[in-house]
Amino acid sequence: MSDEAGASTRERRVNPNFITEIIDEDLKQDRYAKITTRSPPEPNGYLHIGHAKSICLNFGLALDYSGECNLRFDDTNPETESIEYVEAAKRDVQWLGFQWARERYASDYFGRLYECAEQLIQHGKAYVDSLSDAEMSAHRGTITEPGKPSPYRDRSVEENLDLFRRMRAGEFPDGAHVLRARIDLASRNMKLRDPVLYRIVHAPHYHTGDAWCIYPLYDFAHPLSDAIEGISHSICTLEFENNRAIYDWLLEHLRGTCGLPPSPRPYQYEFARLNLDYTVLSKRKLIKLVEGSHVRGWDDPRMPTLSGLRRRGVTPEAIRQFCFRIGVAKSNSRVDVSSFEATVRDDLNVRAPRVLAVLRPLRIVLTNQPEGTIEHLEAPYWPHDVPREGSRTLPFSRELYIEHDDFMEQPPKGFHRLSPGGRVRLRHAYVIRCDEVVKDATGDVVELRCSYDPTTLRAQPSDGRVKGTLHWVSAAHAMPAEVRLYNHLFTAPDPEATGGDFAAHLRPDSLVVARGYVEPSVLADPADTRYQFERLGYFWQDPEDSRPDHLVFNRIITLRDSWAKAAEKAASTSPNKTDRSASDGTA
Ligand code: ATP
Ligand code: MG
Repeated sequence: MSDEAGASTRERRVNPNFITEIIDEDLKQDRYAKITTRSPPEPNGYLHIGHAKSICLNFGLALDYSGECNLRFDDTNPETESIEYVEAAKRDVQWLGFQWARERYASDYFGRLYECAEQLIQHGKAYVDSLSDAEMSAHRGTITEPGKPSPYRDRSVEENLDLFRRMRAGEFPDGAHVLRARIDLASRNMKLRDPVLYRIVHAPHYHTGDAWCIYPLYDFAHPLSDAIEGISHSICTLEFENNRAIYDWLLEHLRGTCGLPPSPRPYQYEFARLNLDYTVLSKRKLIKLVEGSHVRGWDDPRMPTLSGLRRRGVTPEAIRQFCFRIGVAKSNSRVDVSSFEATVRDDLNVRAPRVLAVLRPLRIVLTNQPEGTIEHLEAPYWPHDVPREGSRTLPFSRELYIEHDDFMEQPPKGFHRLSPGGRVRLRHAYVIRCDEVVKDATGDVVELRCSYDPTTLRAQPSDGRVKGTLHWVSAAHAMPAEVRLYNHLFTAPDPEATGGDFAAHLRPDSLVVARGYVEPSVLADPADTRYQFERLGYFWQDPEDSRPDHLVFNRIITLRDSWAKAAEKAASTSPNKTDRSASDGTA
């Protein structure tokens, strides 16, 4: 393979998969002049990371093959859909970095779809059924038994047309009649046993208002919308596998009529949906978390929604990279959340300047630093390849804060942090020694009286190496900050596995709020800067709640997968339990 081909492979938005193979073959056989896909959210909730997989695939294919992708709102259920969700979805798709060729609504096609339905009736391919829901399912049979025909299955074309027109005119209440395709009551594919195409719903639609009181079902609207838009590859998730036969049946009967192009026609392909551990990916369930006030809203940073991930501080690049990495396959599986988190870390690692913050402060008094003295220490940003050149200064004064967990009065063997009589280096600053421990009346350590060695700014002390390096801030100069530490929403990897109420598995401590301090240099940065707080994790200011006079930081992600560790609980309240090594630049 030539270098050129290799290069184009590297730049692909979509990892090669069974669908790209199909497209390659379709193009080779000249089946389509252009690849056209669509991203079809139903506006009944906010998009989540599962949708991102589908969005990256559909838009990515259009980009990779110089084709087009439409954003089509699949809005055939007036009772659950709203313009708020439409607007949120548009924002999310754009935030992910994609631009649609056309913005479309299935409801734009209601007139055309109605014509198609009449056309089917006229050809004896659809009939108005007047059975109740319960009777209809009793007639449908089972996998081993064929269905029984409805007594209304043999209505004449005239009678069907008359009833269908009167359904449309609003003469009947909800549920009185439906329109069904006449396909095959003995089919082993239950979906083909005369699927319902239209139902009566007397409800206004956010997009078409009161124009309609009959609405097409997904199975009817979807293939026809695809055909109307000239979609070439209609990609959906695996649960629609059995619906493909209806898709094909409808297009074979209707292509070339009612303004549908005769060819080329679209085909449906199914891929595995994304299931992620420790969360639920379904708008219907996420809505329950919002309505039950288990979270603060659709954009709560614990939510797997795109708006939640955005507010948390995850970048669109990280989400696209994750979707690329997981790839597209034909069989369902659960994705370990640690692979998502690893991608988020990889992304932030190269973009986040390292700064110092303390989440659970313990006061240090440097007894050999005269009161009122401030030294401005040069602190280069690390690593040097972040898009942040140069350095900032850190004020160093008599009173500092270190992390409470970085001190132990009776340290175990191998403890390289601070203990009575012990020494540590303060990051970008000096080596200090703990001379005296001050406790309050209850015996809690409240202050350490220490001395610093002025010869150790960029040098080891003359009398031996100091192993530990701690993060710190100057007490008088650091900015107080509310720091929101997020954990997984659920305690169970698959909150739905046990059936019943998934909300029963919610973690009580999915949000822990710390009152900490951040080095003052952050105030000079753009408010949307993402940082690594050294040894603590990646953070950014909450875009809604943070203000210069009340800083609020969200933890985007911890530094490493503390999840797997047994000390799960400890990690959630004090993420700074582990000593960080050279990989974080704190060694
Ligand atoms: P939900 O249950 O969350 O409402 P849905 O499938 O009903 O999911 P739609 O808005 O109808 O949501 O889906 C829009 C597109 O996103 C569809 O093509 C759908 O197959 C795809 N999609 C939805 N959830 C996932 C997922 N978890 N992984 C991959 N694709 C998904
Ligand atoms: Mg849906």
